[in-house]
Amino acid sequence: MSAVDTLRRVFGYDSFRGEQESIIDHLVAGGDALVLMPTGGGKSLCYQIPALVREGVGVVISPLIALMQDQVDALKALGVRAGFLNSTQDFAQRREVESAFLRGELDLLYLAPERLRVESTISLLDKGRVSLFAIDEAHCVSQWGHDFRPDYLGLSELHERWPDVPRVALTATATQATREEIATRLDLTGAKHFVASFDRPNIQYRIVPKDRPQQQLLKLLKTEHAGDAGIVYCLSRASVEKTADFLTANGIEALPYHAGLDNRTRAAHQSRFLREDGLVVVATIAFGMGIDKPDVRFVAHLDLPKSVEGYYQETGRAGRDGLPSTAWLAYGLQDVVQQRKMIDTSEGDLAHRRRLSTHLDAMLALCETVECRRVQLLAYFGQEGQPCGNCDTCLNPPTAWDGTVAAQKLLSAVYRLDNERGQRFGAGQVIDILLGRKTPKVEQFRHDQLSVFGVGTDLSESEWRGVVRQLLAQRLLAVEGDYGTLALTEDSGEVLGRRRTVRLRTEPERTAAPRSSAR
Ligand code: ADP
Ligand code: ZN
Repeated sequence: MSAVDTLRRVFGYDSFRGEQESIIDHLVAGGDALVLMPTGGGKSLCYQIPALVREGVGVVISPLIALMQDQVDALKALGVRAGFLNSTQDFAQRREVESAFLRGELDLLYLAPERLRVESTISLLDKGRVSLFAIDEAHCVSQWGHDFRPDYLGLSELHERWPDVPRVALTATATQATREEIATRLDLTGAKHFVASFDRPNIQYRIVPKDRPQQQLLKLLKTEHAGDAGIVYCLSRASVEKTADFLTANGIEALPYHAGLDNRTRAAHQSRFLREDGLVVVATIAFGMGIDKPDVRFVAHLDLPKSVEGYYQETGRAGRDGLPSTAWLAYGLQDVVQQRKMIDTSEGDLAHRRRLSTHLDAMLALCETVECRRVQLLAYFGQEGQPCGNCDTCLNPPTAWDGTVAAQKLLSAVYRLDNERGQRFGAGQVIDILLGRKTPKVEQFRHDQLSVFGVGTDLSESEWRGVVRQLLAQRLLAVEGDYGTLALTEDSGEVLGRRRTVRLRTEPERTAAPRSSAR
């Protein structure tokens, strides 16, 4: 059967998407390939169809052991002869799959990477006929990535052992550097690269300052997405529950989904979301893996995602059908404080914390950019784009202002407070001091005596919060401890010593630039 016949008769689809056809042709002809395609782009068919068209068994290496059973069941339901070998099986189950393989009764065999370190698996593959190797989630070979699997390093030997069998490596996350690393480590330097665009033009990206998040969300849903299906992501189980209750109380049917609910409730909520129209799911990021609902009209984040990869994947669940959809994120000072704290207290070594920190910085840069969000998002994945006209910064260009003087005022207030040994103060106290407010706490610590008291009345409270947030994002300010104490960083001195200027993004609610600065 030809590739397109297989697509129609086995999988029931009319036509190929994007580069699927060229990838499949290349593999069927015996070439090696490296495929970069966003989640939901249709990577599976790229190796499943060549496995069916070529003679022999297609061997798929995947680290997602938990999904193998489902993948194999789905293939069997289509009449494809598939099996898997991983550590969840007992001896008898493994034997059954192995003998099916040897009898030539399999089209596809899914393998956990550690299986290939076992000599018996190698000799099993030697006794049968392999039509191709597909290495899924190929970024797991990268030692610098967030998903490194040591077993993936051994996969470079596939080529030495079976030089005539074509190989395809697939991934949804890879910067240019990671892509080159994958090619080198998997001995795929001669492979043809297929890089799909990561652009999702029908998704409108919007990132707004967090003010009263539930009210902001409600307004978005009532004015722009009445009756639409959508996903609302929250960081904690408690806020999932609260937000779902809040929406339901306000006439929007919303179902909670998080790891603390029992399996039955979770499964019930998920299947209602898939089957019924216009339901909202409020969830932690536990929700969404493998969810394939085409008409999700919005994805809203009430808390800051930990990385751009996460943000891209979660927002990518909107608008699979190609119709206009919204990706909306509310983000505030507290998000930065909270996430930095989570990183500081996270388990793992220094290198791990640095990695988390790099991911957070990239996410913050996306939030604070004055450029097109899409251009910035694509650049993160190593792709070029033009200002899109379909994101908040394109539709409503923010201005930047010279925040050097404001930053100096704020940093010197932090410096003064830092001198009071033993006492620790957060953003609220610092802002009260700058605004010259004689609150009980200001009077108690005699902060009205400080030289910086009242020097910041040219900005409003929310503008000051914006300054704090952006200085945190630019690492000119740090937070410490349980109470979000503000502290100076290594770079703060450059601003205080007037050796560095600071550009800040204008907060949307501000109409004019503050008096103390030029645009
Ligand atoms: P990925 O592995 O890249 O995340 P999948 O292979 O799981 O994506 O495909 C995502 C969804 O798109 C699946 O439901 C799949 O059946 C569907 N799909 C893939 N290719 C096509 C196609 N050519 N026509 C229609 N649907 C497709
Ligand atoms: Zn744009």
